[in-house]
Amino acid sequence: MKLVIAMLKHETNTFSPLPTPLESLGPAGRPLRGAAAYAHFKGTRIPMGAFIDLAEEIGAEFVIPIAARTVPSGPVAQDAFDQVAQEICDCVAQGCDGLLLDLHGAMVTDDFADGEGELLARIRAVAPDLPIGVGLDFHANMSEATVRHCDVAVGYKTYPHLDMYEAGYRAGELLVEMIAGKISPQLAFAHCPVLPNILRQATDEAPMREIMARATELESDNVLSVSVFGGFPLADTPDTRLSVLAVSNRADKGVAACRDILDLAWRTREGFIYDCPPYREQVARAKTLQGGPIILLDMADNCNSGGTLDCMALIGEALNQGLENLLAGPVYDPEAVEALIAAGIGAEVTVPVGGKFDLEAIGRAGEPLRLTGRVTRI
Ligand SMILES: [Zn+2]
Repeated sequence: MKLVIAMLKHETNTFSPLPTPLESLGPAGRPLRGAAAYAHFKGTRIPMGAFIDLAEEIGAEFVIPIAARTVPSGPVAQDAFDQVAQEICDCVAQGCDGLLLDLHGAMVTDDFADGEGELLARIRAVAPDLPIGVGLDFHANMSEATVRHCDVAVGYKTYPHLDMYEAGYRAGELLVEMIAGKISPQLAFAHCPVLPNILRQATDEAPMREIMARATELESDNVLSVSVFGGFPLADTPDTRLSVLAVSNRADKGVAACRDILDLAWRTREGFIYDCPPYREQVARAKTLQGGPIILLDMADNCNSGGTLDCMALIGEALNQGLENLLAGPVYDPEAVEALIAAGIGAEVTVPVGGKFDLEAIGRAGEPLRLTGRVTRI
């Protein structure tokens, strides 16, 4: 058996001003290929690592044309997407028995709101009958096109993500069984107009805990895998929502499993709302609290969700309201750091900090905060 294993993984925050060029799509300033990709991902607890392990366990021949990924940021540059997609298509076109893809599920490119659907459509155009298995993140904004153009797809069942390897392994296992003719998987897909707040998606808390437990309960000899996707709300796309995907041996059982999960999600939808008062109120409340530490989190400016890490609003508000004994950061601002280094230890400096990125998606210019202080360390 000959397998192609590849990765194009990006969680796109369509509100983020951070670019995503080809050079960002790999640990060494570029995507990895062949032996370098193998060395980097062998032994990792993500779908790529699982695909490699599985291929070796069953004695399959395999190639890794390309593995590209980076942390969340703005839409993937179209030329970067085109190149990675082309390299995967070229490899598949040389002939293989199956393709295993490690994708995120919430990728947007300059030209395509549904990056994964477009990638899979291009691969399908080259290899219409090729068995394709996909490992996906729990935060996937699943599209009809993604479902239509693959044979098997399995998402993580945990958030925080603790079962990335297991989900990838399951996707690989099902694809290998399909290639061997032991199963003929059917995909059932359904979604509902619910957009769970990230802070209400944890799978060890209600309602996601009960939904995931139900998904596992529904898996059987006929229903081979049930994945629930909480969705990635910071991507403004038509597919951003809660969805369910079942891989089954019997189409009717898969459809029933999806309906079961959606009914439960809809009944418990109030639990997905995170009641977040404006930050001015929260800072005011922090002032009244005794003991500590008291943590104020700017969740929208999270660099692991595509934030610039240089929004100063919360820090500015805390200073305005006179909060004392404050530790703030980290803030991404190389220019401010350079100015402090130039001033030297002991110097008193006034510099604009943060706010270097304009937030075009919400029509706001960057708002630096002028701070005065003494340089104590370099
Ligand atoms: Zn995720």
